[in-house]
Parts: sequence; structure tokens; C-alpha cells
Amino acid sequence: MEFPVYLGAASAFRMTFTKFETIPLEEDGMDVNYLEKKLDELNKNGLINRVKFIYTVPNFHNPAGVTMSLEKRKRLIEIAEKYDILILEDDPYGMLRFEGEHLPSLYKLAGPDRVVLLNTFSKILTPGLRIGIIVGRADIVRKATLAKQAADLCSPSLNQRIAARYLERYDLFEQLKPGIELYRKKKDVMIKALEENFADIKGAKWVNPQGGLFIWLTLPEGFDTMEMFEIAKEKKIYYIPGEAFTIDDGKSSSMRLSFCLPPEEKIVEGVKRLREVVEEYGKKKGLI
Ligand SMILES: *Cc1c(COP(=O)(O)O)cnc(C)c1O
Repeated sequence: MEFPVYLGAASAFRMTFTKFETIPLEEDGMDVNYLEKKLDELNKNGLINRVKFIYTVPNFHNPAGVTMSLEKRKRLIEIAEKYDILILEDDPYGMLRFEGEHLPSLYKLAGPDRVVLLNTFSKILTPGLRIGIIVGRADIVRKATLAKQAADLCSPSLNQRIAARYLERYDLFEQLKPGIELYRKKKDVMIKALEENFADIKGAKWVNPQGGLFIWLTLPEGFDTMEMFEIAKEKKIYYIPGEAFTIDDGKSSSMRLSFCLPPEEKIVEGVKRLREVVEEYGKKKGLI
């Protein structure tokens, strides 16, 4: 799994698996060299058969906000082929791109023998429907269907029909355009606010995402965003501490900020207050 780890996937995988290897994310996605090194090691130790799949969120990663470059997509596929490992491609945000060029999915590049593609209506229509999409080799999809039936006796057919009628009646891509424009504006407002409030904090950095719903903000070493959250709450600032995106509840100096819901003026005010939070915590801990 990529690190930081998407929480929902980690909890789902935990029901079956006990051991996870995390692969660091870089600005252009998964560190594929690290992945290859890790797999080489496992192979040398005779453990390669234990690797069930490689899980990735290639577009606007949740929470890290980064997107895997085309070059890395190709490298990842090569590595997966070398060791004959399936790739689980999770792409809830791919349609929420507000700038830059659309990149082909791993599924499109490598096909169903190598990649299982997951999608959802949650980020493009409504999360309340609880309808997901799986695209892949027939035998894998059949097994997933059985497992899902065993787990919850199938997603509500009413919800499935609502989603199906929606797709029949409306052009989903057209319907998404105003929303994407809205998110782009809000993202720009948050990035500008971060530049204004955090540029002078040495070691603070953030990812400017080309789509999705989140900005990943990392503070200098020593900050513990879980502990800092107490001060944030007092100032009515909410973020998701980076610790929530670790496998072992490890300390983190990062946090996930969401720009999709609050109106622009609240984003500006929020980032200003977040700066106050960071300053208060940083001074108390002798970090700044
Ligand atoms: C939101 C999200 C999903 C899917 O969420 P559901 O509501 O369960 O469909 C999957 N992967 C990632 C990375 C997400 O952020």
C-alpha cells in the first residue's frame, strides 16, 4: 500500500490480511524503485507468494493529493508483471480533475489480467448510495460478488436503480463540470491562503493537487498533528491528523485538509486560524 494509507482500504484489508508493506509516495506517485527493492527482498527471502496485490490510488491520492505519472504507471505494471502480482487500482477521484492532462488508467494500460479497477459513485454523485464499481477479470469479479453477497447480501437494488437511471437520463461528465469548477476555485483559494500563512514556516510543505477533494499539509519535524488537534478544536478548526493514515497509529506531522465543503471565506479564515494553531503548538513545544 502507498503511504500515507487510505483508511477505508486499510480497514477492509485488515479483515483478511495482517501484514502490510507501505511504499512511500513521491510528488509523482508511488516510489516504484522502493517497491521493486521491497519485492526483490521478499523474493530473495522466499516470501514473494505472500504478496497478494499492490494497492494504489493513482489519481489525486487520498490523503496525499499526488497523481502517478504516466512513466511510473508503466514502471509499476512492469514490476507487477515481473513478479506476477495483481494491481488493485482504486480510482474514486479520476473524474474530478480540475487541471492538467487526463492520464490513462493502469487498467487501460495493462488490461484485466494484471489490474482490477475499482470506482464508486461516492465522490461524483452521492456517497449515500453506497454503490461501487469493479472492473476486472471475470473470475475475480465473480469471487468478489460472492464475497460481497456473503458480507451484506448485495447493495440495495433500489439504490442501484437510482444510479442506473441517473446514468441513463443525464450525461454524468456534463453534470460534473460545475462541481469540478467549484472545487478548482476552492482549491486555489486554499493554496493561496496556505502560501500567505505558511510560507514563512521552515519545513512546512503542501501538495497542490490537480483534482480530488484534499490538500495534504506537512509541518516541520517534531509536530504531532494528533496532539495539536486539541488546540485546533478550541479554535473550531478541524482536519484529519496524519496519524489516521498510518497502519500502526504512528505519529505524524501531516494533516489532511478538505476544501470541498466550506465556502471560500471560511477557507480563508480557517487557514488563518490554522496558522494560529500551529504557532501556539509550535511555541509550546519549542518547535518554532
Ligand atoms: C472515498 C474513497 C473510496 C470509496 O468510498 P465508498 O464510499 O466506500 O465507495 C475508495 N477509495 C478511496 C481512496 C476513497 O477516497
